[in-house]
Amino acid sequence: MASSLIRGKYVVCRAVGDDESEVISDGAVFQRDGEIVEIGRYDDLKARHEPDEVIGSPDFVVIPGLINAHHHIGLTPFQLGSPDLPLEPWVIAKLAQRDVDPYLDTLYCAMQMIESGITTVMHNHALRWRPEGVSLDDWGASLIEAYEASGMRVAFSLFNRDRNHLVSEDNEQFMSTLPAGLVGLIRESFPFSPVSSSEHLDLTAELIRRKQSDRVRVFISAHNVHWCSDQMLRDVKEFAGKHETGLHIHVQETIYQKMYGTRHWGKTPLAHLDDLGFLGPEVSVAHGVWFTDSDIDLMAETGTTLCHNPSSNLRLSSGVAPVNRMLDRRVTVALGIDEAGINDDNDILQEMRLAQKVHREPGVGVGSPSSHKIFDMATRAGAEVTFFGNQVGTLEVGKRADVVLVDLSRITEPYLHPDTNIVDALVYRGKGTDVDTVIVDGEVLMRGRKLTRVNKPEVHAELKASLGQPLKPHELRRIELSRELLPHVNRWFANWDMERNPAHYAYNARA
Ligand SMILES: [Zn+2]
Repeated sequence: MASSLIRGKYVVCRAVGDDESEVISDGAVFQRDGEIVEIGRYDDLKARHEPDEVIGSPDFVVIPGLINAHHHIGLTPFQLGSPDLPLEPWVIAKLAQRDVDPYLDTLYCAMQMIESGITTVMHNHALRWRPEGVSLDDWGASLIEAYEASGMRVAFSLFNRDRNHLVSEDNEQFMSTLPAGLVGLIRESFPFSPVSSSEHLDLTAELIRRKQSDRVRVFISAHNVHWCSDQMLRDVKEFAGKHETGLHIHVQETIYQKMYGTRHWGKTPLAHLDDLGFLGPEVSVAHGVWFTDSDIDLMAETGTTLCHNPSSNLRLSSGVAPVNRMLDRRVTVALGIDEAGINDDNDILQEMRLAQKVHREPGVGVGSPSSHKIFDMATRAGAEVTFFGNQVGTLEVGKRADVVLVDLSRITEPYLHPDTNIVDALVYRGKGTDVDTVIVDGEVLMRGRKLTRVNKPEVHAELKASLGQPLKPHELRRIELSRELLPHVNRWFANWDMERNPAHYAYNARA
């Protein structure tokens, strides 16, 4: 029986409504074997229980573990040599990235996430090119094993695609516009779908059988509407129903993706998904930047949820998602960092701050998310979209003890007005580096900013050594391919007749 009493100057249990949170001053959480047994005043709980240890002090605020609801890889694209570009050329520029060992890469990022207070992540992994020497079965499993080693919770999915890999058009049609030498290079080195649709489903079913556990949920995923045939979309939907699991997909991340819908179906990609019977409460959609009012209605009516990624949307010139309109319609909105974040370091407290500020539309009396709403997005809503909703996301008796202690010293020193709400203080001033202790299922994963399960210097050294090796011939070919292909992709998109859309937010105007 392992028990602990986790104390802080404040315990923020959960957001209540849109504008307040349930907070206990001089509070504590008593957990036994990973289950929250009682929450209350520290003095009362100390008198009633005999914990194995007391964690924390009045120097901390105690919060539920934070949840990153959309994530892909460890070392960021920028670290791997791909600076920000608009998404369409960016996905081509990323071909130049080198292979990274999937286990080490995931462990690297899990450490970074734990260090910023993230206890649960939605990891959505591309079935693109497989690193050398890794079998198909081990490819997905090794990623989950990295999370198992770190102690984090993960909702894990592999995503596939089966068309329009180069631009938003049939591959052969686009290639017919390219020089013959480049077409040869593409056929030789471009990572078209290396895995068939049925292999993807079988692999995911196998991962569910082998890897599903208290801390691991295995979801199914399709990449994005324009990259997936209707058959693939129907198949993943059916799979999610049969296995009673979650379904994750990118939708309308960029204006080009929205316009693809207009060109091909005379409606938005989300409306097309609705025609296929795809939407529903088990479906979480990443981005949704280019949602129309009727898309937002569809999200609300079908109970489909959104994973909002403000940093990514700014970095890849995608735009600003109409989150205020979605919150007005009571769509569940969770928060994701999409593998990098604005500081390129997966700091979710920074992402919470950005999410709050970016939705402040000009004008007195114009609503925008309160700190409590943002806190709810990064906790309870994240738990809902990752299917851990009954277990984590809030501090409540009977839930699992996923708890984070944030050091208040930098946030409050030398002075912070005593009337400041603690949730405001966290969202306005908190940084990942203020996170001191991270607990999952009652188990301490980081204490005093030192990770307990993973040896960080060793992981960094291994990554450095493996990435210090000379580039392999297939990596050099991909670099050449990226360099040759990029101008053609840029030209192809630059020729689009851009759709004029009424904006959800009036940020500014010109005469
Ligand atoms: Zn993404």
